[in-house]
Amino acid sequence: MKIRFHGAAGEVTGSCHEVEAAGRRLLLDCGLIQGSREDERRNRDPFDFDPARIDGVVMSHAHLDHCGRLPLLVQRGFDGPIWAQRATADLLRVMLEDAARIAEGDAERARRRRAEGRSFDADELEPLYTQADVQAVLRLVRGLEYEEPLALFPGLTLTLRDAGHILGSASVELVDSSGPEPRTLVYSGDLGPKGTPILRDAVVPPRADLVLLESTYGDRAHRERAATIEELGRIFHEAWEQGGNVLIPAFAVGRSQELLYWFARHYEDWGLGRWRIFLDSPMATRVIEVYDRHTRLFDEDARRVWAGKPHPFRMKNLHISLDQVQSMAINQIRGGAIVIAGSGMCTGGRIRHHLRHQLPYERNHVLFVGYQARGTLGRRLVDGAAHVRVLGHEVPVRAKRHTVGGLSAHADQPGLLDWYARIGGRPRVVLVHGEDRPRQVLAEMLQKRNVVADLARPGETMLV
Ligand code: ZN
Repeated sequence: MKIRFHGAAGEVTGSCHEVEAAGRRLLLDCGLIQGSREDERRNRDPFDFDPARIDGVVMSHAHLDHCGRLPLLVQRGFDGPIWAQRATADLLRVMLEDAARIAEGDAERARRRRAEGRSFDADELEPLYTQADVQAVLRLVRGLEYEEPLALFPGLTLTLRDAGHILGSASVELVDSSGPEPRTLVYSGDLGPKGTPILRDAVVPPRADLVLLESTYGDRAHRERAATIEELGRIFHEAWEQGGNVLIPAFAVGRSQELLYWFARHYEDWGLGRWRIFLDSPMATRVIEVYDRHTRLFDEDARRVWAGKPHPFRMKNLHISLDQVQSMAINQIRGGAIVIAGSGMCTGGRIRHHLRHQLPYERNHVLFVGYQARGTLGRRLVDGAAHVRVLGHEVPVRAKRHTVGGLSAHADQPGLLDWYARIGGRPRVVLVHGEDRPRQVLAEMLQKRNVVADLARPGETMLV
């Protein structure tokens, strides 16, 4: 087997690894490059392989940095099968349709600016891809269960295993039995932390010859989750005393549903019954429908919570599926409202109009539960800006801001090392999906344990 790296080799986005095995070419993931404008422009570059010569794609999970270039792959000539865990298959529809909607909106805005004689970005006049491209992708998707080996081609078998990162997330195992000795490649995908809410813990594959291991948090240990949960409760009590609202920017997939799960579990002790709770995100609402369809993937604790009262998605004071008018109406509420809205880093979505109306008041609280990248509105707020620009308005910031760590969807260094250590065969490790520092630190930790560990480099080819 041979592997070549086309993305997420020295960065965390754009995951795309090419595997040659049993005379076929496969891709593991085909993710969007995300970050600055310059970074994102690279999505428009041609692939450094011919999409028409790829025989199939295996998906690890439905986050955009793992699936967001699939429509470009199909647009440029790929028409083979795309294998994905069944819940991932459902989430792909939600994610890619939303991505196309945003791309089409951006293009329309650029064309309008050109028509009005204002400055515009020439690259943006055409959408990166359209709804038609997305539908072409969805027609190729084949749903799969965990732990059910599938013969993709003669001599090549695929098994997906739960990665405990988001619903449907998988580690990929490929066994090539076409040669004299079978060879096994394992791709971790993104691995969730132990005890991740709702989902089962990541499953360890029995053995491998080579492991492509993610390394997002390869250089650190997470804070204790229990401390985070306690802190959340304190903030809700404090905000109630002060008569304010609580705004929570959150990603639509995973984090929003996880928050509702915590709300249901701590409904009494956090005093949530007296609040009005809004999940103001059309996308998070669609994702809830996918969760409802796949409750058999939940862990035991989540099944218990789902069977009890209140049900995380049906709390009597929870309002979901809001239209734009209802969303705007929340701006009039002076206190007693908890609003979960996207986007997670405040770069788009409905959270912006809530921030615009709520930031000027001292009684309000903004709760950051996820990573805030440099250059985003979320990051400026976390860094303590006294004024921010939101939707074209200069807004004074008097609301209290809280950064709550400990809810990461990625395993930390001890978690990654433990997952690896339980794989049989002492496989060689190649680190992907991490910036250079965490990858370097994790590589050193593995080398100290006498494991052969390398960093993947873009364009580099390795033998399994
Ligand atoms: Zn992910």
